[in-house]
Amino acid sequence: MVDYGSRDAELTAITAEVRSRLVGIANGGDDYSAVLLQGSGTFVVEAAIGTLVPKTGRLLVLINGAYGRRIAAIARRLGRPVLELARPEHRMVNLGALDAALAADPSITHVAVVHCETTTGLLNPLRQVAEIVTRHGRRLLVDAMSAFGALELDLAVLQADCVLSCSNKCLEGVPGVGFAICRTESLRESEGRCPSVVLDLHEQWARFERDGQWRFTPPTHVLASFVAALRAHEVEGGVPGRGARYRRNCATLVGRMRMHGFQTLLPDRLQAPIIVTFRQPADFDFDAFYEGLAERGWLIYPGKLTEVPTFRVGCIGQVFPEDMEAFTDTVAEVLA
Ligand SMILES: *Cc1c(COP(=O)(O)O)cnc(C)c1O
Repeated sequence: MVDYGSRDAELTAITAEVRSRLVGIANGGDDYSAVLLQGSGTFVVEAAIGTLVPKTGRLLVLINGAYGRRIAAIARRLGRPVLELARPEHRMVNLGALDAALAADPSITHVAVVHCETTTGLLNPLRQVAEIVTRHGRRLLVDAMSAFGALELDLAVLQADCVLSCSNKCLEGVPGVGFAICRTESLRESEGRCPSVVLDLHEQWARFERDGQWRFTPPTHVLASFVAALRAHEVEGGVPGRGARYRRNCATLVGRMRMHGFQTLLPDRLQAPIIVTFRQPADFDFDAFYEGLAERGWLIYPGKLTEVPTFRVGCIGQVFPEDMEAFTDTVAEVLA
């Protein structure tokens, strides 16, 4: 509820604290640097591809949902050569096919993967993907948008080129800032590469390093809430603490929805504790179901799958197992 001057020392200090906390959460140490960008998560996905993947490079995209498809679409629009390795949306990305593709095609310079595919809620095997990419000497871009801050991600182990996320998912800030935690060396090499002025992560990184300033008017209120959210994340016990609460939320939700006869799309071993996809029962009126829940204060998500009718329920944000109990009680009431 306070106005900040966008070039004032107070806001510069907030920006610096946000950047350093983000690198800390990912265990990036001295080798990584966080670059913040105005906009939603997709803005930083486009910025990272434009800045980190050179025109002469080739990006292999592991796809098992809408967000993987979006990465490929962005890269193509930017004129970066793309190779898609697609899987059905209820299957994890194919590690054997990745290994074989990298062995067969030396022109592939970068690999992109989505940590939690929010399309279904599926958890991709990030550690194994990173191990294969590193073994072949290629670079990894991770869309950790819906996982960062709740699911373990250790840059000292993964050695990824960049990890991307935003203020408003598991970090529980408000929408408005995306960020890329990049290998500093890769940022240094990327000068003049980005085809967009406003999405150039190299230029914004260089400016942050020079005088701590945003190049263009920063979303001051979003930053003020983001730093408060990051402090609260630490108080909750960081990634293990937040992840444990989301796992309890997810277990409560899934257990009680199954009691009411709903089936999850994914088997439990592929389910991330972030968002759960449920199959719609036969003769289900989704719009009436949605409206009934919304009237009672609960907002869910429509399904994002093409073949099977589904709906999704999120486990993240300031919600607790008691909320999941209250929600599933309301589901029963609306069904009745
Ligand atoms: C939310 C999300 C994004 C970004 O979507 P926006 O609509 O730009 O916020 C990108 N990737 C994944 C996996 C996401 O969950």
